[in-house]
Amino acid sequence: MFPALETESLPDPYEDFMYHHLQYYGYFKGHRGSLPTSATHQHVWKNNPRYLLSGSFGERQGMVPDPLQKEKLLCPTCISSPVHRQIEAVSRDSLMLSSPLLKSRQLLHDEFGEVSPCLREPRDLFTFFSSSGPLQAPRWPIECEVIKENLHHIEWVPPQPEYFYQPTGNEKLPEIVGEEKGTVVFQLDSVPTEGSYFTSSRVGGKRGIIKELAVTLQGPEDKTLLFESRFESGNLQKAVRVDTYEYELTLRTDLYTNKHTQWFYFRVQNTRKDATYRFTIVNLLKPKSLYTIGMKPLMYSQLDAKTHNIGWRREGNEIRYYKNNRDDGQQAFYCLTWTIQFPHDQDTCFFAHFYPYTYTDLQCYLLSVTNNPVQSQFCKLRTLCRSLAGNTVYLLTITNPSRTPQEAAAKKAVVLSARVHPGESNGSWIMKGFLDFILSNSPDAQLLRDIFVFKVVPMLNPDGVIVGNYRCSLAGRDLNRHYKTILKESFPCIWYTRNMIKRLLEEREVLLYCDFHGHSRKNNIFLYGCNNNDRKYWLHERVFPLMLSKNAPDKFSFHSCNFKVQKCKEGTGRVVMWRMGILNSYTMESTFGGSTLGNKRDTHFTTEDLKSLGYHVCDTLLDFCDPDRTKFMQCLTELKELLQQEIHKKFNELGQDMDLEGSWSDICLSDIESSTSGSDSSLSDGLPVHLLNVADELNQKKKMYKKKKKKLLQTRKQRNEQYQKNNWMQELKLTEDALSQLHGRDKGTSLDPSKMPSLILTKNKERMQTEKPRSTVSCSPKRSTNSSQEPAPDMKSHWSRNRYPATKRGRAAMTVYPSLHIYTYP
Ligand SMILES: [Zn+2]
Repeated sequence: MFPALETESLPDPYEDFMYHHLQYYGYFKGHRGSLPTSATHQHVWKNNPRYLLSGSFGERQGMVPDPLQKEKLLCPTCISSPVHRQIEAVSRDSLMLSSPLLKSRQLLHDEFGEVSPCLREPRDLFTFFSSSGPLQAPRWPIECEVIKENLHHIEWVPPQPEYFYQPTGNEKLPEIVGEEKGTVVFQLDSVPTEGSYFTSSRVGGKRGIIKELAVTLQGPEDKTLLFESRFESGNLQKAVRVDTYEYELTLRTDLYTNKHTQWFYFRVQNTRKDATYRFTIVNLLKPKSLYTIGMKPLMYSQLDAKTHNIGWRREGNEIRYYKNNRDDGQQAFYCLTWTIQFPHDQDTCFFAHFYPYTYTDLQCYLLSVTNNPVQSQFCKLRTLCRSLAGNTVYLLTITNPSRTPQEAAAKKAVVLSARVHPGESNGSWIMKGFLDFILSNSPDAQLLRDIFVFKVVPMLNPDGVIVGNYRCSLAGRDLNRHYKTILKESFPCIWYTRNMIKRLLEEREVLLYCDFHGHSRKNNIFLYGCNNNDRKYWLHERVFPLMLSKNAPDKFSFHSCNFKVQKCKEGTGRVVMWRMGILNSYTMESTFGGSTLGNKRDTHFTTEDLKSLGYHVCDTLLDFCDPDRTKFMQCLTELKELLQQEIHKKFNELGQDMDLEGSWSDICLSDIESSTSGSDSSLSDGLPVHLLNVADELNQKKKMYKKKKKKLLQTRKQRNEQYQKNNWMQELKLTEDALSQLHGRDKGTSLDPSKMPSLILTKNKERMQTEKPRSTVSCSPKRSTNSSQEPAPDMKSHWSRNRYPATKRGRAAMTVYPSLHIYTYP
């Protein structure tokens, strides 16, 4: 319809399959030559996004387009000759192919060496560059209806800063009337909620005809808005029209759960220009929100995109976030209400909590990297694993080729990841900025690729992103509470990530681990790290965050950083990687809102702001590793001063004198800081939902077994089952332990005078040495807010980019940041 947001009907996946199948048996031969080449793919994408998805990484004419197809073709009969010759070439290297009688490498062998009757994943799934693996169309749970349109939004940066909303105090609080008094104008059916669990997936989701869910308009005068959300990352469950221009909206909870509403993304059509519409989301669950301190929702007008090249922008008036006082004793819900005037009649518009970044967006980006002859030299794309729904979790390895094995071995590693929480698309934008820069030809990027091996998992939870979840995977669980998991099958994305890092650590030092997130209650960008107890490296984990705050002073707040290791965060990537030996292990939190700092004060972040953070991470890495240690040492000194000030402050608050000269550095850091439970925490919910019943059953049986005598003889099958069950029980126990510690030790962490003797240790060095270091603190599920978002005014004044001469490299532009725009579209 409009070039800016082209849509196209997807062919039926079965037809698609048969088409390709027949093609390689000699039909439709003429079509092969028309596949996109790397030189033209951008053009093709603009005009036909779907085409790219069924295209490939640098596909060559006549190649087999799909690993599964290839597997099919590998049977020795009836192969058309050009394809046959290629397959022959492949098969020379393959034992399996040269003779069907040889032992297959495709069959899995169990731990006892027996062949189990399932097939290994085809080899092609693990390499993309070698031949022709196509980009995957997203796989959805089979219950999910998906419309056959592809959506694409243009990228745009508003020319003027978008200021926070200033409440007038006269904002109306609409009364929630519900569907009894209103009219349901959109409602998803058969949505998997609590009690059900993920069973299988399919490209295109639910089979059969996709029903029209929006109401049928009664004529050109009918002003009812037409809602839709059955697309990637969309999650509107229901819309109720309560007045001509007023709608109550219900968000779909994360699949297979009854919670985690926060992210929203939906489409409206049939708009009218000169009317004020009101939208109210009625089932939010968080008591606090950035919407209370000025954040506006995002809106996208398809006509504006087409005619004025305008993309997502902050819009909305009369914004209120408030508790819906229900008198039925049920769970409290929170509401977000805003009014809006659409820019055009008969427009298609979108609303979102934050700039969407879908799995398809990622795949198109990766495709452009792999098709780039320069970037593909130093960026290798592999499959880390498959998600529960069978979507590919990508792993990028970025490094310049080394001249000698010694040089290769000497490189340290940096691990970056994003989107473990699917509704935090912030992470993807920071990741994009990082990739744009590190894959560029800037001298700094080249230097970084010379000295580091970057391991990047750009989307840890593709299933969650696809279905529009806010927090969970299709196991119905927050993956960032399960990094210790032993359930590879239930939590593949994080199990394989941890395993990859484990192997990396055996090979080389990992200097930095950072997982990118979004934060729904605080402005700015900040890091959570882990206090280290080794005196030799005292405060070292804070150097990188402090440096970052100096490099991005109007976006990054060092004062919002926190370095506590709480019990309830033991399962997070940050803590698990820290325990595995990565000293600089961080969660990067970036706000859904904007900045309270410097030049950007009171303005929303744009995608360009977030992308710039990706660049600042690179820049700070270079500062951090500068062989001239001046900057590092300056930061350490500053950190000590800051801490001393902080301690003085605490003592003053408690009305005590500080008599700690000479030994103040023995104070346990965890006790000084407030808790990060003010972060966007969610508690571990335990086993994945599909195992909950099994666990109950096992608990029952365990009780019974205690009474019974143990069976002496078991078949192999029984032993395997037992092994599996033991794993589940172990996982369950891990979770239960964590939960019981959480509830048992829910004492809060604020400094209380009565706790002072045990909290703060002074002068008693012996005790420090003999006691187990206080590395973790319990945390409360109740939030405590760290209100100190503002930096101390003197924080950054000491830092000057040109204070130290660049030592090892020609960082001539030390005082001037390179323009980010040159890296934006590599
Ligand atoms: Zn998060």
